Amino acid sequence: MTDGRGETPLRNGPTEKCGVVGVSLDGRSAARPLYYALYALQHRGQESAGIVTHDGFQQHSHVEMGLVGDAFDEGDLDGLTGEAGIGHVRYPTAGSVDKGCAQPFSVSFKSGSLGLSHNGNLVNADEIREELAGLGHAFTSDGDTEVIAHDLARNLLESDLIRAVKRTMGRIHGSYALTISHDDVVLGVRDPEGNRPLCIGKLDDGYVIASESAVIDTLDGELVRDVRPGELVVLEQDGSGFDSYQLVEREHTAHCFFEHVYFARPDSTIDGTLVYDARRDLGRKLWAESGVETDVVMPVPDSGRAFASGYAEAAGETTADGAPRDDDDDGPEFAEGLMKNRYVGRTFIMPTQDERERAVRLKLNPIKSTVEGKSVTLIDDSIVRGTTSTQLVDLLKDFGATDVHMRIGAPAIVAPCYMGIDMATREELIASDKSVDDIAETIDADSLAYLSTDAVAAALETGRSDLCLGCVTGEYPYDIDGEATDRDVTRPEIDGQAMGADD
Ligand code: SF4
Repeated sequence: MTDGRGETPLRNGPTEKCGVVGVSLDGRSAARPLYYALYALQHRGQESAGIVTHDGFQQHSHVEMGLVGDAFDEGDLDGLTGEAGIGHVRYPTAGSVDKGCAQPFSVSFKSGSLGLSHNGNLVNADEIREELAGLGHAFTSDGDTEVIAHDLARNLLESDLIRAVKRTMGRIHGSYALTISHDDVVLGVRDPEGNRPLCIGKLDDGYVIASESAVIDTLDGELVRDVRPGELVVLEQDGSGFDSYQLVEREHTAHCFFEHVYFARPDSTIDGTLVYDARRDLGRKLWAESGVETDVVMPVPDSGRAFASGYAEAAGETTADGAPRDDDDDGPEFAEGLMKNRYVGRTFIMPTQDERERAVRLKLNPIKSTVEGKSVTLIDDSIVRGTTSTQLVDLLKDFGATDVHMRIGAPAIVAPCYMGIDMATREELIASDKSVDDIAETIDADSLAYLSTDAVAAALETGRSDLCLGCVTGEYPYDIDGEATDRDVTRPEIDGQAMGADD
């Protein structure tokens, strides 16, 4: 499966979205902490990286295509003066793949300067863009982040900062975790459904807002808490604390469950749950729901590792029927039987179908002794198109596995994501029109099972109604054209509300 640029994604899974960060420090330049933070968020976006700072007089920006390590040199960081700033790593989910859409988006206007970093995707960006364009706003990109920036800039002309953010939140519909710089004031905003993660950390000399708590660890800080859904957090300019404004409240949240399953770093804590623990628990539940007795349990590296370790641990305690194991029965052996070549980049040029099919052999190679003559349970976090799973099952059988059973630590992906995840189209998703048995046959597995949505909710210690499960149920927490919803949602009417809206 190519991505349209003649390149083959090595992992045919959903693609990470974006990562955002903002810091306000006392007596220290913000540029280097932001740079280190972007390194900690690199897994969330590899297309571009950028930092915007403000030194109290002037805004400074450096945004470049490529990985964080390639996007900045010493001179770039030295030029980003000021003790407050925001940063962004991007994987393009809305807008084109070019520097015009790279973030943070920055703009100067009558009442000051704005920088904006966005993780998520708006459902009604086009409606707002059309309205603002009609009012004379000139857009330089087709991304939805610029729409938020223009709307906010317009509201700031007649409101204070808090009211302006509230007005914009009343108009935009979709998922967003934002870090914003308004001159040298840094803010964090999380959408009312809390779809995308955002947390607050305390440093020795200031505060940080970031997509994931791994950033706070990297900066040697302490996690304070998650930004609440619908909350605006304003960092004090002297680094002494932050103010909180609960601008919108909803009865239910819609956290993206895929953050815990797939996107976030295992060492991040999101909405109170350590991602690594959640994945191990999902693996334990997978054994309880659909365990199969095989000689070996093997993860697809690296995505299946935590699931497989929880699955194998639970398999060592009970049989597949749920009975306690006898003392002389250790259950299936946990084995790292697939070795990953870490020096193959995220994508590489594979012009022909034959070469594309070799992609998996470049990336993963079995250890023959862990596979030959054995029955194997192969564990992963998702099956998107099925291409990689088929190749892996065939590879294990080529190396002598007697049978290969596939277990997935999440429900089947049946529908696309409109909230900022590059998930493939409905037509491309193997589970959109196939039964589990049909998928097993297609990928050559001797059996296949997915985890239930109830098990996901239990592992994340939340109710189903507080999760976004759109891609696994086809019902979304937002009002999306042509799609079903799983709750009462009202899409804001965009009709001349840009000015004079109620606060
Ligand atoms: S549709 Fe799926 S990937 Fe997208 S936000 Fe919802 S749970 Fe996450």
